Amino acid sequence: MKMSQAFIYTFKDIPSEIKGTSVSLLWRAGFIDRLGSGIYSFLPLGWRVHQKISQIIREEMNKIAALEICLPALQPKELWRETSRWDKIDPPLFQLKDRHGKELALGSTHEEVITDIVRKRVKSFKDLPLILYQIQAKFRNEQRATSGLLRTREFIMKDAYSFHPDEENLEDTYKKIISAYKKIFQRCGLPTLQVKADTGTIGGVSSHEFMVVSQAGEDKILLCPKCGFAANVEVYQDDNCPSCKSRLEQKDTIEIAHIFNLGTEYSEKMGAYYLDNKDKRQPIVMGCYGIGVGRLLASIVEVSHDKNGIIWPKNIAPFQIHLVLLNNEKKIIEQANKIYQDFTKENIDVLLDDRPISAGQKLVESDLIGIPLRVIISSKTVEKNQVEIKARAGEKTSYLDMAGMVDKIKKML
Ligand SMILES: [Zn+2]
Repeated sequence: MKMSQAFIYTFKDIPSEIKGTSVSLLWRAGFIDRLGSGIYSFLPLGWRVHQKISQIIREEMNKIAALEICLPALQPKELWRETSRWDKIDPPLFQLKDRHGKELALGSTHEEVITDIVRKRVKSFKDLPLILYQIQAKFRNEQRATSGLLRTREFIMKDAYSFHPDEENLEDTYKKIISAYKKIFQRCGLPTLQVKADTGTIGGVSSHEFMVVSQAGEDKILLCPKCGFAANVEVYQDDNCPSCKSRLEQKDTIEIAHIFNLGTEYSEKMGAYYLDNKDKRQPIVMGCYGIGVGRLLASIVEVSHDKNGIIWPKNIAPFQIHLVLLNNEKKIIEQANKIYQDFTKENIDVLLDDRPISAGQKLVESDLIGIPLRVIISSKTVEKNQVEIKARAGEKTSYLDMAGMVDKIKKML
């Protein structure tokens, strides 16, 4: 993509209502816009990152045989009455009436909808196990939506639901989900901790969260520095580790994923039963598994930035290479266009800064946007038939000869 034709606007200052490190950087670097309290738009740069994260999630879910679906945001009240959550879920539902006076909610989660679909179709143990997931919009009627993208009223979430004949079968899938999640966060370049957690108003038997250690987080965990035991303070309050008795450390964390063993709570309330191999009627055992995509994106910025801007991990960066012309002489433009085409031919995502603005401003904006590798073309490099390269995360610059340059750069990506 060429910046002269792109929709990228960066800012030196931020509006007073934008508070927090990640949201400020994303707003200044042109990734997002804020429409109102807890309501954000993803602009072309931001949506590219969001899509790359979604695609990593999709690939890892598909590898464990989860099937992708798309469920409606609008959900009838009757369904929520079946589980008694219409008035009880926390944060509360956005509730509305249609023109006929019929009450509906904008879904904050989809246990009711998915259980309704499954109870109409799954009849036998032969239909189980089953994992269904979606990457779709959720709405939460938050009391305070003041933490930027970390706590919003509308957001896109990956939510998966699993269905099993028994607890043992669920445990097997639960472990597969944990290992898929670990791969997802690893591919996104985000270090996480898996902790024991409270089940809250989702309910069920037990739950785990995946946490990112960050001062921006609203959750607190206790972590054992010796054996790695970790739990949310909501479920464990002792000073010492239950496994090795070492003194626990308290950390501020951001919750980026939450997984639940739901047991038979939903299937019993909503009548989702199957016939086992002895023709006996049994409630389906369920699990649910969420990842907030926008929150994951913001958490990456919280832990990966410096005073000049964002530093994107390579797999989810909006582009792999930022190709910057330091001035717009004819010779430089010609060489930049050639390099741009060479990268594009090799399927490398490249953002070309071909705008007629000062070199200083281009470099400042390049640091702010945070693409992992910068390739610079200037009068000096053209004269020597070279390019200058610099990793966003480092200080050092180096030079590569034009001959074989694309292959050498491909190896760095
Ligand atoms: Zn320990």
